[in-house]
Amino acid sequence: MDFETVRQTDRDCIAGTYRRYDVCPVQGKNATCTGLEGQTYVDFTSGIGVNSLGFADERFVRAVSEQAAKLAHISNLFYTLPQETLAKRLTEATGMQKVFFANSGAEANEGAIKAARKYSFDRYGRGRDKIVTLRNSFHGRTVTTLSATGQDAFHDYFFPFTEGFGYMPANDWPAAQQALDGTVCAVLLELIQGEGGVVPLERDFVRQVAGWCAQNDALLLIDEVQTGAGRTGKFLCAEHYGIQPDIVTMAKGLGGGLPIGAVLFGPKTAGVLGPGQHGTTFGGNPVCCAGANAVLDAVLAPGFMEQVSEKGAYLRGKLLEMDEVAEVRGLGLMLGVVLKGGDSAEVVKACAENGLLALTAKSLVRFLPPLTISYEELNQGVSIFSRVVSRR
Ligand SMILES: *Cc1c(COP(=O)(O)O)cnc(C)c1O
Repeated sequence: MDFETVRQTDRDCIAGTYRRYDVCPVQGKNATCTGLEGQTYVDFTSGIGVNSLGFADERFVRAVSEQAAKLAHISNLFYTLPQETLAKRLTEATGMQKVFFANSGAEANEGAIKAARKYSFDRYGRGRDKIVTLRNSFHGRTVTTLSATGQDAFHDYFFPFTEGFGYMPANDWPAAQQALDGTVCAVLLELIQGEGGVVPLERDFVRQVAGWCAQNDALLLIDEVQTGAGRTGKFLCAEHYGIQPDIVTMAKGLGGGLPIGAVLFGPKTAGVLGPGQHGTTFGGNPVCCAGANAVLDAVLAPGFMEQVSEKGAYLRGKLLEMDEVAEVRGLGLMLGVVLKGGDSAEVVKACAENGLLALTAKSLVRFLPPLTISYEELNQGVSIFSRVVSRR
């Protein structure tokens, strides 16, 4: 297939939900990939924070192919070694007690929402079921996680949405408190709003929310789907804030390119879900868990996280040297670039045409490179970005 045929087939046969760039990567190594017609791209997206170890990492490829050759799938009615190993390592790495494996971020959040409501139901009965999230948040695309997503643009067409959600502004505790009443069973937060424009929550605000939750036996649910698995220079972004969440959700970077989600339960919530109360056919699939174990081998190795922070600081510094850049937000290798002028979508499109894959987040350009990106690849990407923004 040549590129024109690919594009026509997409138009003919794929549901029209994506506005795609004119890029069809076929093969890659770390943060560099090749397009269908031989173009070279530097990847500052890692598939929206998914390919933690870049493309075709040897340890990842070996772990996944060996598991596929042994046993690709078996029902959750049986035990598997990769799933048990992953659960043990995740609980040890996070201080959480138990894990439920799902297939995606939205599904992990669904699990967290169900567990939060059941926790409250078990203790207080019906009617204390409100989950408060932040304005401008993003929690997924299922009917319930759209409700959880605090953006009006997502609350259209698909009526009726799941009830029982309230919204509060980020980083404004006096205003946020007004959404918190006696019907609240949980608060759900991203610590750095990703899709919402790389907006970090302030430490004081997060601590105030955490304090209110602890005082009122409401659960603190932290959505680490984008920020987790080392992305911000700590295994969980929550470590930067010194909080102990009751539930943490993960997905994106955890599987290193394979679909996996995880709901991590702390002491209060570890026993909430019992037999038959939640489940999934594919969640915790052995091949995906083998991939996630390879990600953890790399990410939890001594010095790895420091390296993520150093590369993040380096990239931030290079970006701030550019006249066209007003601000760089985020932590580690999750960075949002505020441009002094121009449309982020047009800039990202121009980057793709010039060999750099990047993302938008509202009016920002967002970079989520693989955590293993080399300095040479960082420099190549920076130089393409600099050319693109200075030319406009
Ligand atoms: C991407 C994302 C989700 C949704 O994950 P999917 O795997 O696409 O369902 C949920 N929460 C946050 C913070 C995300 O960035």
